[in-house]
Amino acid sequence: MKYDVNEQGFYGEFGGAFIPEMLYPNIQELKSSYREILSEDAFKEELESLLKDYVGRPTPLYYASRLSTHYGADIYLKREDLCHTGAHKINNTLGQVLLAQRLNKTRIIAETGAGQHGVATATACALMGLECIVYMGAKDIERQAPNVSRMKMLGAEVCAVHSGSKTLKDATNEAIRDWINNPDDTHYIIGSAVGPDPYPDLVTQLQAIISKEIKEQMEGLPTHVIACVGGGSNAIGAFYNFLEDESVNLIGVEAGGMGVQTDKSAATLALGTKGVLHASMSYLMQTSDGQVVEPHSISAGLDYPGIGPLHAYLHDCSRVTYKNVTDEEALEAANRLMKLEGIIPALETAHALAYLEKMNFTTTDKIVINLSGRGDKDMNTYINANI
Ligand SMILES: *Cc1c(COP(=O)(O)O)cnc(C)c1O
Repeated sequence: MKYDVNEQGFYGEFGGAFIPEMLYPNIQELKSSYREILSEDAFKEELESLLKDYVGRPTPLYYASRLSTHYGADIYLKREDLCHTGAHKINNTLGQVLLAQRLNKTRIIAETGAGQHGVATATACALMGLECIVYMGAKDIERQAPNVSRMKMLGAEVCAVHSGSKTLKDATNEAIRDWINNPDDTHYIIGSAVGPDPYPDLVTQLQAIISKEIKEQMEGLPTHVIACVGGGSNAIGAFYNFLEDESVNLIGVEAGGMGVQTDKSAATLALGTKGVLHASMSYLMQTSDGQVVEPHSISAGLDYPGIGPLHAYLHDCSRVTYKNVTDEEALEAANRLMKLEGIIPALETAHALAYLEKMNFTTTDKIVINLSGRGDKDMNTYINANI
């Protein structure tokens, strides 16, 4: 496929594996085997069966009639919020746990910020009887107490990281350190379409089921597919099988935070410049001397200073349009979906919904919004916002 990663692990100038030398054997083992394992019949059968009976796939493509009337266009919601554990992340963690088993790994490590990827990893490990260690910044452990409890209930060990800003990037450093020290028995599950090659492609392939199902569920092609973008895994999942259908407008919505003109934003493609973050060349929010800028978003899942390298490439070749909406606009959009459709979306997802306010519709438009997750985890934010 035209937009797939090349042999060297790049999408145009983006991607690659800018890793410490000690990580090279781990990355090389993964890179040399993942495509083959993913395409084995036995692997595909096992994953498909779990996705069906355990996750609840295919997720519905729901025609949102009151939302459609409100905007005067046909709007469909791809219901990833109905996946087991409440979001798309389980598509990736289940696939990677099966891959780890094929590579004879008995120990799984992951990093998590808001805790959603940690919970999805702990879930897949419990299902497969694998040891699970989740690195999490001490500050995030305090902020995300319910997800910490969930991970522990599922049998995972949550490792508090006290270095640096005690948040996601410090947890990532600690997970990488662990992987270097345990190369033989351990697989590292990255939670979005980011990190060194081959992770962006691995995560893309595992999330591409979203757009595969949309294509099967829809008569003809949509005119637009819209998804929120943090690292970019739900968005690339929703876009992937439409990339070569040039008539389909693909729109990624980043978190504008308090607005891109303020210093409280997470809109990487609006504010970022080229550089290396988490071992991959992409756009990132950084100062002129290359220090990562602390991002801000009301939604923990979009609060990331980088973006996956495939998105950077799709942005530069103009195949996907990237926009951003503010915290306030996301809250309003969440409220609108609750009242019009009886669905409480995740705050991340609300960013994709908020973009509908900025579109000019024609009555022949058929718009798919990827409803990446449900809003249970965001109850406190919604309550405090008086929705
Ligand atoms: C984690 C998360 C996101 C953001 O991550 P991506 O990799 O950009 O998809 C979006 N929506 C939900 C519900 C999430 O949990």
